[in-house]
Amino acid sequence: MKDLIQKAAEALLQSRHAIALTGAGISTESGIPDFRGPDGLWTKNPEAERMAYESYFKFQKNPREYWIERLTGPSILGDLEKAAPNPGHLALAELEQMEILKCVITQNIDNLHQKAGSKKVLDYHGNMSLLRCYSCDARFDPRQFDLERLFREDRLPPLCPRCNGVLKSDIVHFHEAIPMDVADQSQEEALKCDLMLICGTSATVFPFALLPRMARQRSLGQGTMIIEINAGPTPLTQEKISDFLIQGRTGEILPLIVQEVRKSWSKNRH
Ligand SMILES: [Zn+2]
Repeated sequence: MKDLIQKAAEALLQSRHAIALTGAGISTESGIPDFRGPDGLWTKNPEAERMAYESYFKFQKNPREYWIERLTGPSILGDLEKAAPNPGHLALAELEQMEILKCVITQNIDNLHQKAGSKKVLDYHGNMSLLRCYSCDARFDPRQFDLERLFREDRLPPLCPRCNGVLKSDIVHFHEAIPMDVADQSQEEALKCDLMLICGTSATVFPFALLPRMARQRSLGQGTMIIEINAGPTPLTQEKISDFLIQGRTGEILPLIVQEVRKSWSKNRH
């Protein structure tokens, strides 16, 4: 495994445009349950899953009711806002500070990459800390709106300050399309990168799952390297989409890689 960590560090140092794809695996180490695992949110609470499936239809049918439910109902995501980034998130943020990593594309909605200091983050499935306009896709900090007051005065849903469209949570609900800007930029990054780190995701949920496959197809013969850091082999390993797998927890492996990168990086700088 030491060899593979060394190999990953060298590839990062040689890369021109490295990006990272992340999924639930990087967040479970911050105490955030996944959805479908043995302790998953849905596994333990099927009713919450049913509600989540209906959120988008509810929003489309009656945004006011969607908002009333959000403000008064039980929170499915619970204490997620209190979660803190772990060494895996911090390692990716450090790689960006070194100007090696150019972008993180995450399936997680927990905002932990941003909390860790990453600047260029594409929230593929949205960000729970933001609201998004259904018409123009602009994102807003919910604190900009006095939601409790809008509720008391029966003036929900909140409206977009730019285009007067209806606002929803930025989270991409079941049945909802990936916001166009994020989908486009993610595809662009996947086609541009010469190194892709896949961290804590088996990338089986579409359309996210297309990103590593696009990078692999484009890169045939061009030397794009795809490195997986996952708890075990995934379809990406089996289908030979990744060049190699470093098996383990992202919170342990990523800091080891960054430690190796740092050695050569500071040598080159001074
Ligand atoms: Zn708008």
